[in-house]
Order: sequence, then C-alpha cells, then structure tokens
Amino acid sequence: MFDSHYHIDESTVSAPGFIASMDAAGVRRAALIAPMCPDLAATPLFRLASPLFRSMVRGGRTAPLARKLYQSWVAREGFADVGGRLYRIKPQPNNDVVRRAVKKYPDRFVGWIFVNPEGPADPIREIERCLKTPGMMGVKAHPYWHGYPVWRLLDTAAYCAKQGLPILIHLGAETGGDFRLLPDRFPDLRVIYAHCGVPFQEEVLGYAMKKPNVYVDLSCTAYVDRKSALCAVNVLGPRRCLFGSDGPYFHNGGDRFDYGPIVAMVRSLGLSTEDREAVCGKNFERILERR
Ligand SMILES: [Zn+2]
Repeated sequence: MFDSHYHIDESTVSAPGFIASMDAAGVRRAALIAPMCPDLAATPLFRLASPLFRSMVRGGRTAPLARKLYQSWVAREGFADVGGRLYRIKPQPNNDVVRRAVKKYPDRFVGWIFVNPEGPADPIREIERCLKTPGMMGVKAHPYWHGYPVWRLLDTAAYCAKQGLPILIHLGAETGGDFRLLPDRFPDLRVIYAHCGVPFQEEVLGYAMKKPNVYVDLSCTAYVDRKSALCAVNVLGPRRCLFGSDGPYFHNGGDRFDYGPIVAMVRSLGLSTEDREAVCGKNFERILERR
C-alpha cells in the first residue's frame, strides 16, 4: 500500500516509529506532509460529533448546514477548533521536516511541499527550494485552515501544471471551496481533493466525473467513513480514488500510528483485487510517474 497523505510530526510519532507502523500494516510507502498544527486529540465532543458530521457533509439537504459548522471551526484567525479544543495553525508549515525524512528514507517516503499564498514564504520560491531534494514530488495547499480563496493558488497551479507536479488541496467552505477553478483553468493539472472533497463531497464527485485529472483521497476518519468512500469509488470510479491516512492524527500512541481503522475501512469497501490495488497504491504511483 502507498499512503498518499500522512503528516510527519516526529514529536508525536518518530520516523522510525512511523516506519514500524507502516510495516505492521503492510504500507510500503508514504507521501509526507509537514504538520500545520500540534497533534490533534479526539475530545469527547469530537467523538460524539464526528459520525454525525461525516454523514451530514456527505451530501444532500444536510450538507449546507455541515459546511456552516465546518467554516465556524476556523472562526478565530490563526486557530482551528477541533472538537472544542483550539489549535494554533502554522502560517508556513515547515517543509524541511519532510525533506529530512525523505532524504533519510528515500525508498519509503516521498514528500508534498506545503505552500501558503498568504505567506510568509513565497509559494513558487518555496517549491523551487524544496524540489532540490529528490523525492519531493507535489504541492499541498490548505485554503480551509489558511483562510484564503482558491484563486490565490492560480500562480502555484500554473507552475505545477507546467512542471507536471500534482497538487493536493484541502478545501474550505466559502471562497476557499471553489473546486472548479483550478481544474477548469488547467485541464492537465492533476488535482487531488483531500478527504473525498470535503466539505463539497457530493459536488466534487459529480464535477470530477467529467474531469479526468481530478482525484480524491479517502483519508481521515474524521471526514470520511465507509459510506463516503463508497460514494467516491462508485461515482468517480476506483481509478481516481487514493488511499491515504491523514495520520498521525486521532490514532497514535507509544510512538506508533495505528493504521487499523483506515485500513479496515478500505477493506470493507469490497473492492476487487485489481481495484483495491489501484486505490491502495497504483493510482498514486501513476500520478508520480507522470512527472
Ligand atoms: Zn491532512
């Protein structure tokens, strides 16, 4: 398996601890992302509200209310509210953490380059700086927690399209949620919407049907459950769904990340061997090969 979405935060799970966790779960490789906040804990409120939120945000009449809730969780500038606890958001997540791990374990890790068009680092300069490390292979952007409209990513997306770099985006609910802009403007750009396109899961899946370079990842048990993953696989097809964990959040302890819940969720989808292999690694490998 190839985990397309994992945050390397060595104060929570060390790189050797994570590799041991991967080995235990049969995960061969992982695409690392710099952490944008301290480790996230599942509070009692979080445990209570998550299943409800996942089902509300999946689509239909409850989705607009789910999006209002979702947007309220970043109401205070620079902080994210996760289950009633506030976490300070790093304006520029430290990509050097990822570069170091990728350099040290090149056969296990590749790296996403985190950018924030709001600064302080200039995205293009940051991408060029990080690309000097072999294995740094794509760009991650978080208009939701970083609170900017998607059009702010136009320069970055143009650069990625030109260089053949995929871009992984965690959408916001308002102007940060314009999921049509970049694929419409750059049809060759490979765009991956994190967590099944949350908070526009139904709309993103419908839209992506006609956009062959748009993918979703199935990562994060807080946003994606079996039913949302099934929707993604059924609507978009298994060739455009990517296995990812969003670890180490909510599932760590004792210097280990527990792949159990997310792996069990993907197994429960009942995919054929061929489709499961595609979702669990081959699709992402193909994205990386195309550069
Ligand atoms: Zn993430």
